[in-house]
This record gives sequence, C-alpha cells and structure tokens, in this order.
Amino acid sequence: MSVYLVVFVVLTYLIWIKCIYNRHRPTLVKSLKSVVLSSRETNGDDVSALIVTAHPDDECMFFAPTIIRLVELNANVHLLCLSEGNYYKQGAQRKQELLNSCAVLGIPDSRITVVDHKKLPDDPKAEWSVSLVSSIIAQHMRARSFNVVLTFDGSGVSGHANHTAIHKAVSRLAFTGQVPNDCCLLSLVTVGLLRKYISFLELPFSWLLPSSLRCIVGPQGYRRAKDAMFCHRSQLLWFRYLYIIFSRYMFVNTFQMIPQGPTNLKMY
Ligand SMILES: [Zn+2]
Repeated sequence: MSVYLVVFVVLTYLIWIKCIYNRHRPTLVKSLKSVVLSSRETNGDDVSALIVTAHPDDECMFFAPTIIRLVELNANVHLLCLSEGNYYKQGAQRKQELLNSCAVLGIPDSRITVVDHKKLPDDPKAEWSVSLVSSIIAQHMRARSFNVVLTFDGSGVSGHANHTAIHKAVSRLAFTGQVPNDCCLLSLVTVGLLRKYISFLELPFSWLLPSSLRCIVGPQGYRRAKDAMFCHRSQLLWFRYLYIIFSRYMFVNTFQMIPQGPTNLKMY
C-alpha cells in the first residue's frame, strides 16, 4: 500500500513539473478560447478579466493560480474586492496589504477597486444584500469592458457568507440578463476537505474531473502565491502557514461556467 502511495506521489510530482515546464500555455489558451473568446484567435492579451472577491487576502488564498496564469498570458486582470476586511478594525492596514499582494501577483493598483460600504461589513454573520452586491458588480462591469468575470461558487470555498453572497449576486446578474453577451461568468469550484488539503497531490483530480477552466501553477508560481500570502501580515496566524503548505488552492483553480438566463426577463 505504502509503495503505491509513494509511486502516486512521485508520479504526480513528475507530471506536475513536466506539465509546468511545458507551460501548458496552449491548454489554457484553448480553455479560455472555448469559454471566453469563442472562435477568435488569441494569445491571451485580448482577455479582460475581473476577479470579484469579498475580503483582502481572498485574491491570494483562493485565486492566486488564476491571477498568475492570466497575467503570464498578458491578460488585463482587474480585482473588485467588496470590503476592506474590517472585522478586527484593521481595514486600512488590510487594504494596503491587498495592494502589496496584488503587486506580487501582477495586478497594478490602477486595476484594483476596494469597496468600503457600511452595508457590506466583513462579517461571516452579516447577510450581504444580494441586490446591493449585484448592483455594485454591474456598475463596475458597465464602467469597463470585461469578457470574463471570475468569482466564488455557491459554497464560497470556505463557506463564508460574504463569499456566497457574491455568487448569488453574480448568478442574479446572469439570470436577469444583465451581463453582456460577450462576457462569460465563471465560479471557482469548492472541493471537499480531503481534496482541499492534500497540496499538489490533488492535481490528478483537477486534471481528470471536467471543468470549464483550469489554472495550474508550477513551483515558481507557487512561490509567488506564497509571497502574496506573506503580504497579508495582519492575517499570518499559525494556521495560515499550514494553509500555504497544504491547500490545493495555492496550486490549482478549477472553474465552472455560471449559466446565463434570458436577456429580456421582465420582473413583476
Ligand atoms: Zn474571504
């Protein structure tokens, strides 16, 4: 049994390294083309992506592989963070940590928007208004032109109520036809606890299970994700170090498409 386990670990590691040294760029571009750009030829620089998160540190805890890979492809990556993370009254510090983390990941300050709204507190017990969140996201999408929006799925990776509120808000935009036709919505797949904390050994599951988009980073990308995590100094408690070592979200993100509904829906 232990021999099989060692073989599995070594094989996964070797395939991961080989896959990354080949940069699997064609695969990512192909996936992006299929979900974002239909049949157009692209090298990635005509991708304009918006990542929508709830708190400073979500961008590196959960979306680092995606941001790193999109930036490598020269995509225009923007971040909309819907709170300053003021749960412990550290909002100003956490906002600065967010900017530092994004600089490491490759998103310049000019492409980052941090919302500070009293009705959107950083609080797992606070029910964020879905209509308020969807109107903020819609306004942001109207002000710029994005062809892909990426956010949490209905379980929010950690189950945080603020994460799931964003998914509900984006789903509402999709269902009520408030999303431009050329914009695709993707939700970050939440995996079970076992898959979540087996580090790069989770990769075979991500390779084999179907997804609309898959972003994987190699050792170099992992180091960058780790450096971004270290920018959030106010959050560096002991379990964060364990997260950095064991979480598969430091290595891989998989996404599913959020279905878009009728474009002329009448609401009564
Ligand atoms: Zn969060």
